Amino acid sequence: MADKIISPYCFSTAEKKVIKDSFKNHSDWDKSCFDDIKSALKEDLRPKQTNSCCYCKRELGFDIKEVDIEHIVPKSKYEKFTFHPKNLALSCPGCNTNKSNQPVLHKEIKIYPRSGINLTIVHPYFDCYSEHIEIHDGAIYEGLSSKGCETIKLCKLYRLKKVLEKKKEAKSKSSPIAQLVSDLANASDAEKQQIVAALGLHTNQFRGN
Ligand SMILES: [Zn+2]
Repeated sequence: MADKIISPYCFSTAEKKVIKDSFKNHSDWDKSCFDDIKSALKEDLRPKQTNSCCYCKRELGFDIKEVDIEHIVPKSKYEKFTFHPKNLALSCPGCNTNKSNQPVLHKEIKIYPRSGINLTIVHPYFDCYSEHIEIHDGAIYEGLSSKGCETIKLCKLYRLKKVLEKKKEAKSKSSPIAQLVSDLANASDAEKQQIVAALGLHTNQFRGN
């Protein structure tokens, strides 16, 4: 898990020109002329974030609806920071939607912050995540500071406990063969023999033996 993002995306001269020519207000973010820039941003930030959401730290998917470019300081209020490199991080759509346009600053700003002091939430570039939030069992979030608690509240990270419970429920309902095949991936050599034997019993049933 990346505790914080070490370096932001670096826009090329050509990309800066596209932004300068085509970005007039925050709703322009959705214009197709920025698609290539967004793809490059995602490609650059994925490894820097170890492919995890900057707020919940869960793994990001690769499909179009499984990863968002998140504006840490909302672009609706601070549109001049829409393409500020340190205002851009990757999040899961769930965290992005829940956080939405809620305020994240103690005081209004004119220039982009250089540290996390004025931020009410964990800033992915300025704050070490593990100093503010501890994750138990992959889905239970404990705030270790006021920033941690505020991040949990704004992104509704408590929602993920339910996701985990549903996942476990679905797994327990899956077929015995699917369960055995999934167990095989993490089994020791001795356990593998037992699982393969159990799989044999199941497949024999299908053969009518
Ligand atoms: Zn998330």
